[in-house]
Amino acid sequence: MRSAEYVIIGGGPTGLGAAHRLSELDQSDWVLVEQSHSLGGLASSVVDEQGFIWDLGGHVLFSHYDYFDKLLSDLLKENWLEHQREAWIWMRNQWIPYPFQNNMWRLPQEDLEKCLLGLDGLKTNEASTADMDFDEWIVASFGEGIADVFMRPYNFKVWAYPPHELTANWVGERVATINKSDVLRNIEAKADIKSWGPNAVFRFPAEGGTGRIWNELGKRLPKENIVLNTEVREIDSEKQIVFCGDGKQFKYEKLITTMPLPFTIKKLRGQIRDDFPNDKLEQFKWSSTHVIGLGIQGSTPEQLRSKCWMYFPEDNVPFYRATVFSNYSPQNVPLPGRQWSLMCEISESTKKQVNHATVISDTIQGLHSVGVLPKDANLVSTWKKFLPFGYPTPFLGRNEILDDFIPRLEARNIFSRGRFGGWKYEVSNQDHSLMQGVELINALLLNEKELTFWNPTEINKS
Ligand SMILES: Cc1cc2nc3c(=O)[nH]c(=O)nc-3n(C[C@H](O)[C@H](O)[C@H](O)COP(=O)(O)OP(=O)(O)OC[C@H]3O[C@@H](n4cnc5c(N)ncnc54)[C@H](O)[C@@H]3O)c2cc1C
Repeated sequence: MRSAEYVIIGGGPTGLGAAHRLSELDQSDWVLVEQSHSLGGLASSVVDEQGFIWDLGGHVLFSHYDYFDKLLSDLLKENWLEHQREAWIWMRNQWIPYPFQNNMWRLPQEDLEKCLLGLDGLKTNEASTADMDFDEWIVASFGEGIADVFMRPYNFKVWAYPPHELTANWVGERVATINKSDVLRNIEAKADIKSWGPNAVFRFPAEGGTGRIWNELGKRLPKENIVLNTEVREIDSEKQIVFCGDGKQFKYEKLITTMPLPFTIKKLRGQIRDDFPNDKLEQFKWSSTHVIGLGIQGSTPEQLRSKCWMYFPEDNVPFYRATVFSNYSPQNVPLPGRQWSLMCEISESTKKQVNHATVISDTIQGLHSVGVLPKDANLVSTWKKFLPFGYPTPFLGRNEILDDFIPRLEARNIFSRGRFGGWKYEVSNQDHSLMQGVELINALLLNEKELTFWNPTEINKS
């Protein structure tokens, strides 16, 4: 049995953030255990058999932290490409610039009138999220018209649950609330408002996809502290030992886990399990993601050359988003300039079933039907990846359960953080995840406050 002061489960951005910070603070008594053969978790990249590179879903970097920015700049040095975000929505057989609520003048008259009627009834522009479900928040923020025309269908496709099954308190910066007079002015002027939000410009690794970042960070860590291909199966919180599928055992003083929270709890041995009642565990909701990659011979069609990604709120195609992945870096295809690539994401849950057997052909058919993939396109690669854990759903009652479960685990020296470890979607991007790991170490070693996990709204304001 190997002993370490800190055992970290998972080599995604959160686990790597914790490991990196430990190293920075000259701590060497730690071990990171990862079930996969490589590091990066959901932020990894894959090279398919034809040589096309794929991220596990469209990953766009934005950051709320100087620490994150500096680290990434240092990791990849000059090897970045910078892009102007160009996001579009395909609906009613036309392209509308994202975000929808700023560009409604492009809608057919009937939809536009419906949206405006809804806006008329709005009492305030800033709905408070406290005590609202997400559907109530949408209606309070945008009115019934925008809710029906865009918000409900779009959010169902992304989340795979109807909005009334989600809380609203994750929203923060994620939805551009509406300024009625601006909207009316845009409609009058028929002006596209394209630039919005924290990721109007983003950078992307020149080579190797998003996963390159995390591989580089992994290379900086001492090899002997990283154990790959090892799945954690059980945790004895009394003896403070982690048991793995291959027979390895790790004794810890502090356990940092980035596994999905309800599954960490299910791995606990003994009486401690009684602290986490099954009826609460069963309330956790999440969605899975199908990622479909298509490598295509030839040059990128004119209409897609400057587009980054496109949203598809209508149910005439299975995917909610398609990314022109070759636009992020020419090196994402094996023959730059002579090939291009598209990556589509499809959500799945108990409320939204997907036919796994036909998901690729359904995607191709959908892309043809909306004109994104030319009918005569020469497909040289089709790739798919199913992510059982894609989005941690902000289910109703989530915060109360987290506020109960997380401190109970911490009382046993188990610290659950990260996209699925912390289950806070609003702080589950790469920057947030890395910083959850970093801030946890700062809290344990330097007694600092963990802002990201405990105060997401504040963090997302910066
Ligand atoms: C479809 C999609 C799109 C996304 N888009 C963006 C984006 O645009 N921008 C952005 O910044 N972020 C994006 N993200 C989020 C990004 O991927 C996450 O921020 C990040 O990967 C979370 O890091 P993590 O370490 O918390 O979790 P993960 O990346 O999930 O890492 C957890 C690790 O734990 C390992 N593990 C799990 N169970 C065990 C076990 N029993 N034993 C050992 N190891 C185990 C896993 O193999 C994994 O490597 C997206 C994610 C998805 C799924």
